[in-house]
Amino acid sequence: MPSSKDVKPDLQELVRLSGVRMIDSGLTVATWGNISCCDRETGLMYITPSGMNYHEIVYDDINVYDLKGNLVQGHRRPSIEHDMHRGMYNARPEISACVHTHPIFSTVFSSMGENIPINLHDEAAQALGDTVRCADYCLPGTIDLASAVVRAMGEKANACLLRNHGAVCIGEDMDGAFKVSTVLEMVAEIYWRIRATGSTYIPISDENVAAMQMFVKTKYGQY
Ligand SMILES: [Zn+2]
Repeated sequence: MPSSKDVKPDLQELVRLSGVRMIDSGLTVATWGNISCCDRETGLMYITPSGMNYHEIVYDDINVYDLKGNLVQGHRRPSIEHDMHRGMYNARPEISACVHTHPIFSTVFSSMGENIPINLHDEAAQALGDTVRCADYCLPGTIDLASAVVRAMGEKANACLLRNHGAVCIGEDMDGAFKVSTVLEMVAEIYWRIRATGSTYIPISDENVAAMQMFVKTKYGQY
């Protein structure tokens, strides 16, 4: 059983700084959105507090939970979406960060209840894993929403949309989850602009999508 002795202040600080990064990047406004990371070594989840100014949060405001939902350390009311974050860590053991944002172009598609295809752009094919599916509408902060997000994400996608609400992006680490968040929003804007012309895009073949995903896993970046 993880205990408060396992809590790492540097991970509380990572989540605090990531909240500032999210608000400063324009991926959400005011106090909306939420961010967590999961320490796979100890099985602890670190999550932003509910409804606080991201520039005023201090590291000690980041509550810590085990993956069954028990509070291990913290004095704040946590993000209302803590069940969603925990659900993602339980469903996808390879991930360690989860970022929930309200970005404009992604939310245009989420409000239309539409998926965003990844075969319209190379970076989408490389970073998003699978079609970005739009989850069924559920009220914020409910177990139903948490289940809908896990279902929409499936086994391969790194992002999904919350209908009439926003996006959820996951990654092997915080930088990875932010990369997915920014690629998703960029691709959503490209898709919106294509649709605004009344035309459509030329899809990248399944074979080339698979080749790029393999390339990213094995050959892209430094050793
Ligand atoms: Zn939200």
